[in-house]
Amino acid sequence: MPLKTPEEYVDSLRSLKIRAYIGGERVEDVVDHPAVAPHVNTVAKTYQLAHEAEHEELMTATSHLTGRKIHRFTHIFQNSDDLIKKIQMLRLMGQATGTCFQRCVGLDAANAIYATTFEVDRAHGTDYHRRFRDFLVEVQDQDLMTAGAMTDPKGDRSKRPSQQDDPDQYVRVVERRPDGVVIRGAKLHNTGGINSHQVLVLPGMALNEDERDYAIACAVPADAEGVVFIFGRQSNDERKLENGCQDYGNPRFGVVGGEAMIVFDDVFVPNERIFLNGEHDFCGHLVEYFATWHRANYGGCKGGNADVLIGATAKMTRILGTARNGIVKDKLTEMVHLNETTFASAIGASAMGYLLPSGSFMFDPLLANTVKQNITRNVYQISRLSHDLAGGILATMPDARAFDNPEIGHYVKKYVAATSEYDALERLKMARYIENMTSVTSQVEAMHGAGSPQAQRIVMLRQAELDKKIEMVENVVDGTDDVEGLRLRAEPVPAR
Ligand SMILES: Cc1cc2nc3c(=O)[nH]c(=O)nc-3n(C[C@H](O)[C@H](O)[C@H](O)COP(=O)(O)OP(=O)(O)OC[C@H]3O[C@@H](n4cnc5c(N)ncnc54)[C@H](O)[C@@H]3O)c2cc1C
Ligand code: SF4
Repeated sequence: MPLKTPEEYVDSLRSLKIRAYIGGERVEDVVDHPAVAPHVNTVAKTYQLAHEAEHEELMTATSHLTGRKIHRFTHIFQNSDDLIKKIQMLRLMGQATGTCFQRCVGLDAANAIYATTFEVDRAHGTDYHRRFRDFLVEVQDQDLMTAGAMTDPKGDRSKRPSQQDDPDQYVRVVERRPDGVVIRGAKLHNTGGINSHQVLVLPGMALNEDERDYAIACAVPADAEGVVFIFGRQSNDERKLENGCQDYGNPRFGVVGGEAMIVFDDVFVPNERIFLNGEHDFCGHLVEYFATWHRANYGGCKGGNADVLIGATAKMTRILGTARNGIVKDKLTEMVHLNETTFASAIGASAMGYLLPSGSFMFDPLLANTVKQNITRNVYQISRLSHDLAGGILATMPDARAFDNPEIGHYVKKYVAATSEYDALERLKMARYIENMTSVTSQVEAMHGAGSPQAQRIVMLRQAELDKKIEMVENVVDGTDDVEGLRLRAEPVPAR
């Protein structure tokens, strides 16, 4: 069934037998665990909106492989309109959930593998592209959630993979068999892996000839033998375990994506699921394709998230009775300005994209990297303004349970309430939303997700073509193509 319902998605996860650890303990019922359930609910929303007529155009696409209607989160970008719709879809999803909805990493990993395998096959006569297309048809027809696992633990950052004291600091092939390979290592920070069907494993950097064992891209079922998920902690996550979760801020959808460390403890991967195996010369290419597709996303998803945060902040100013003040309005305007700037750049990156040899469509790399670079600043700046306008109560609000305590509840309600149109609980909800969605977990995602700021700056400088810019200034200052006869320079003042 090309479009799963949200219920089918959740049921399909229940049927997986994954090995997962949450809070340091082995958990069998991952889907319903309170630490994971909000993240499952967020992804379920991506399935839900695809069934709604008003969102069909953004949330679905036509497969270029089968001609069937598929979820846009399983689509290979064909043209600039596809990229624009992707950014719009991400903004819509960000608005609907107010958090990270996780499916983009797998989507961009699939696009990167699709485009790279085409080029690897042309250069090396391999059969990876056909294999990947077959895999992709399964993903599209079953509307699977795929995670993208690229970031290795990396050990000592001053050393290459082959120089590490522990060779497992980067995922590598430890055994080659006629029917496949065995991989060992781990990928960190994996968004949505714990509630995915498949994990796409990709190399995390350009590799040298003596690092062929690290040049591996493949698909691994989330419940394959040897795969272990160790769930990460988030800001205030124990609040999810409290009844009602009122202090959690975004109890239905969670704070960012629910990241996990994925360990590959000697996992066998059959040949049909291997999409790169030793072709070190294409690893840098694969990483760059993935990064470019992923970095522009943030203008969409963080745009939608910021819409919700701006909403919470604007509502807070009404609760406080400051909404009509000109300076307050100006700060809200600044939040909108910062947000729309990155959204506009992401739309620009889509419109200025280009066709790859595989026939898929790539963002403009300079603009895509600029989007992500700005996100590493604007998200913090938007949070700062939200903190400013919402007031100190963000840091000092009494526990939600105090509202129900018969001895002190009436004090809390009386002194937390501000203007008479809103009760104290409304202020608590907005404050908790802002507190949690501007927490270190959310902000660090904006900083490091899709690569640390320096990774974007390297591409930006390369793409900026400084030599051409120097040529431009030389042409402007010294050029000789002016209108003939026009007096551009004043006559020298005659000497007295
Ligand atoms: C919330 C979140 C979700 C994520 N989701 C995913 C996901 O789904 N899949 C995935 O694959 N990855 C994911 N990532 C990982 C993300 O891509 C990485 O965090 C990012 O690439 C930075 O890598 P790192 O965390 O290892 O940082 P580090 O390598 O520890 O970098 C820390 C700092 O050191 C600098 N640095 C690193 N190496 C060097 C060097 N050799 N010389 C000088 N400076 C150096 C960096 O520029 C940075 O400033 C996610 C990250 C976050 C925070
Ligand atoms: S941070 Fe944004 S782009 Fe990345 S997975 Fe989450 S929603 Fe998608």
